[in-house]
Amino acid sequence: RVVVAGSANMDLVGLAPSLPRPGETVLGDDFVMTPGGKGSNQAIAAALAGAETAFLGAIGSDAFGVTLNARLAAAGVAVDLVRTSYGSSGVAVIMVDRAGENSILVSPGANRTFVDLTADETAAIAAADVLLCQQEIPMGTVLAALRAGRAGGTRTILNAAPARVLPPGLLDEVDLLVVNETEARAITGRAEPDIAALLALVPRVVLTLSGNGSRYADRDGADVHVPAFKVEVTDTTAAGDAFTGALAVAWGEGRDLIDAIRWANAAGAACVRRVGASNALPARGDIEEIFRT
Ligand code: ADP
Repeated sequence: RVVVAGSANMDLVGLAPSLPRPGETVLGDDFVMTPGGKGSNQAIAAALAGAETAFLGAIGSDAFGVTLNARLAAAGVAVDLVRTSYGSSGVAVIMVDRAGENSILVSPGANRTFVDLTADETAAIAAADVLLCQQEIPMGTVLAALRAGRAGGTRTILNAAPARVLPPGLLDEVDLLVVNETEARAITGRAEPDIAALLALVPRVVLTLSGNGSRYADRDGADVHVPAFKVEVTDTTAAGDAFTGALAVAWGEGRDLIDAIRWANAAGAACVRRVGASNALPARGDIEEIFRT
């Protein structure tokens, strides 16, 4: 069982010939609305990858909240502990121009109200095999969730995205840290991703390397490059979420971490073949198909 404690956002994506400057109104092209947020995406990724998965988070009392909840449930994610808070859901207003350049405004909305874990939330985390957190909810809640996981003997994974200032002691509660190169630099304060500096903070690290796959290192001396699967790349949106969700599933199944990372690479590769965000997350069969190649 995988529990994801994190964010849910509605992504409002408007395409336009050019990004509007301050005070300007631009007549746009197509508009797409898709459920997103790293927490929700990774919960959907884990459920599609085959794990019994529960999402802990907060949605608003607006129409977006209803849709976000329905999207999670449709993917098979347990939503019985999802909170509904009065007001707006988390929303990302995304504008993309014809060159692919974007401007993004994230309004955290209900995600900001996800504070003070309830007894049921704490119990769900403690009963899970794996807890997966990201950094789009209040950091005090991330810390509380990781502590609840530790106390319950649940394996804790932190996907330290987006990069933020971490409360003291947070990384002490992390069994496995998943970061891309930008996030690794933010955590260590070094110009280059520094594995030794990361291992001084957490016992196990996965560094994702986009088209180059990923790198795994731990305090027992492992430092392994796990190559990517070669696929035709259409859209890399949500690749990190597909990867992290699948990694939580495979590790929770008791697989060896290097094998789990190879499987997660297959999930990332399956995701980049498709256009879209949460709708591009792969099912277990799609992951297996690439994994066997
Ligand atoms: P993020 O989007 O969080 O920065 P990455 O871009 O590193 O994450 O992608 C996450 C994972 O997805 C990679 O570790 C890799 O396994 C897979 N992936 C990403 N881009 C490609 C690609 N072009 N080809 C194959 N696999 C990819």
